[in-house]
Amino acid sequence: MDTPKIQVLKPSYRVEECKEAIGECLECGWTGLGFKTTEFEEAWKEYTKLPHAHFLNSATAGLHLAVKILKDAYGWQDGDEIITTPLTFVSTNHAILYERLFPSFADVNPDTLCLSPASIEAKITPRTRAVMYVGVGGNPGQLEEVRALCKRKGLKLILDAAHMAGTRINHRHVGHEADVTVFSFQAVKNLPTADGGMICFQDAEFDAKARKLAWLGIDKDTYLRSSMQGDYKWKYDVPETGFKYHGNSIMASLGLVALKYLDEDNRRRHEIALRYFTHLSKLKAMRCFSWAKNVTNSCHLFQIAIPNRDKVLAELNNMGIYPGVHYVDNTHYRMYRHGMNTCPEAHRLSDELLTLPIHLGITDEDVDRVVDSLKIAVDIVDATQS
Ligand SMILES: *Cc1c(COP(=O)(O)O)cnc(C)c1O
Repeated sequence: MDTPKIQVLKPSYRVEECKEAIGECLECGWTGLGFKTTEFEEAWKEYTKLPHAHFLNSATAGLHLAVKILKDAYGWQDGDEIITTPLTFVSTNHAILYERLFPSFADVNPDTLCLSPASIEAKITPRTRAVMYVGVGGNPGQLEEVRALCKRKGLKLILDAAHMAGTRINHRHVGHEADVTVFSFQAVKNLPTADGGMICFQDAEFDAKARKLAWLGIDKDTYLRSSMQGDYKWKYDVPETGFKYHGNSIMASLGLVALKYLDEDNRRRHEIALRYFTHLSKLKAMRCFSWAKNVTNSCHLFQIAIPNRDKVLAELNNMGIYPGVHYVDNTHYRMYRHGMNTCPEAHRLSDELLTLPIHLGITDEDVDRVVDSLKIAVDIVDATQS
């Protein structure tokens, strides 16, 4: 059979518009920090109504800065704990280890795949300093309960919003709940550049700190006021060792174009998700995940839980369909073994989760083909099991 392959995630770019925006950078000879990165930050603040935004080369960099800046500001000690989820991309948890803090794993709510407030509360110790929360697939889950819990317990809240560009609660963009929110614009995320991220602090001083640390720790403020038009460009102080984390104008050009279409694109993702949901939610063999009525979900992912996942996945591959897995429980990885057998829901879901193809290249017919193939795959696997 010569049917086209269907991939789980795939970026689509408005090529002519992107070329034009990148062309502006090339023509004026400015591809780095500033120019389009500033424009993108302003556009992102306008779109989300968040008070601050700094464009970075990835969300991984942003999560690291988030943890570091809070650690330094509040005097957290090495070994202090951040409560986090095992069901995420490893960036989330690496950010905690980069700063020599301890990732303490709490369990997920099996209905949303996001952290369960009750499980977070049970993991709080005298050394707990913050909660790292992931809005899985674009679903905020119980973010508002977690925010209230953090307030009550005096913990900082870091939101890994890598999947949440365009996600709203009661028509307000997510991010306002947390002390710091980090978005990803990596190529397969729902606001694709090639690589990029945005760090959004509530606090102006932390935003200023992030800007310095993302540019090697260089502090120009002292000289900026006295310098006229590029004089004394080389005169700056470096009070601490920062990182090369800032974004560039080429990536920001792609981001600016994608942002114009984000709501439209997310609406299409939502249609695809609903079409899957309508066909699949009735089936006994699998389970879909839902979100609250007051939520506009970015629908970055469409996930199901299914028994014999690996076998079903292999059958789907035979039919030219390539779903994904988001995610393998991080406590399976050597770095995070200390969390093994502490989060039963996440451990179970890790073997069952399957992400069905969802992106702007997917037609309604593709969705129907995935659904039909999935039913066939389940039947084949069932037949070989018994
Ligand atoms: C993709 C992703 C990241 C990392 O984003 P990058 O921009 O690729 O660094 C972090 N957390 C989650 C949940 C992600 O899916």
